[in-house]
Amino acid sequence: KSSISPLRKINSTINSYAIAKNKEIETLQRNAAFRREFIADISHELKTPIFAAQGYVHTLLDGAVEDVKVRDKFLKRAAKSLNALDKLVQDLLTLNQMESGVVKFHFEVFNMVELIEEVIEELEHKAEKRHINIRFTYNSDKKFMTNADKDKIYRVCQNLISNAIKYNHEGGEAHISLNSSKNALTVDIKDNGLGIPAEDIKRIFERFYRVDKSRSREMGGTGLGLAIVKHILEGHKSKISVSSTVGKGSLFSFSLPLHKVKKD
Ligand code: ADP
Repeated sequence: KSSISPLRKINSTINSYAIAKNKEIETLQRNAAFRREFIADISHELKTPIFAAQGYVHTLLDGAVEDVKVRDKFLKRAAKSLNALDKLVQDLLTLNQMESGVVKFHFEVFNMVELIEEVIEELEHKAEKRHINIRFTYNSDKKFMTNADKDKIYRVCQNLISNAIKYNHEGGEAHISLNSSKNALTVDIKDNGLGIPAEDIKRIFERFYRVDKSRSREMGGTGLGLAIVKHILEGHKSKISVSSTVGKGSLFSFSLPLHKVKKD
């Protein structure tokens, strides 16, 4: 004879069903809260460039357009705000695609030295404007091939090097060094700029988190760059590490596997 009565069996089934449902509801509530917070953050971030552009356009319409100098200045500022808005929307789309897991990674073998040189070439103009010297060092005897998503790693280097320029003093330095060990390539991006307070370091990878909001905006930042960097590196099973001292500068590092050419 079975020792468990049918009633107890039903009770225990109902119990485990209730526990499972409760968990499901908790997850849904957490997701809903996350979504609400995300939408609130986005709305807030979108308002800043929209209000700025609106302000300039309305002032022009109210008569400022008559003064040629003022007109040009305000049109340029309105254009800058619209560019910031465009960048923000693009970064949001990228981050959203990454977080929902729809982004595919296309791995290919490429030379990391060439990729970094391309990024530097793109950012040179920005660095010159702020009198920042970009230095790139690597041991030319070593191999620097990796197998990764080239476009996405370009984005990682672009964000990190551009931060080393943005959060630096005029005349400062951004030093990129590439090292190759037995199995890995390590990219170090070091600046002697503002540095990051210890209490902020663990939060800078969160979306929209900035140590100094006005500086970030002034420099054309969206507050999403490092969140994107983190996601891309996660897609490569890699991580970003950072160490920083306020007033001295910061060091961001990441590694990728070294691609070895097979010998027959
Ligand atoms: P942003 O678009 O604001 O540059 P990021 O996600 O790239 O956004 O960086 C987040 C914040 O981390 C920045 O606003 C800045 O306060 C800080 N930060 C990032 N890189 C550096 C750096 N090299 N030196 C000092 N602060 C940095």
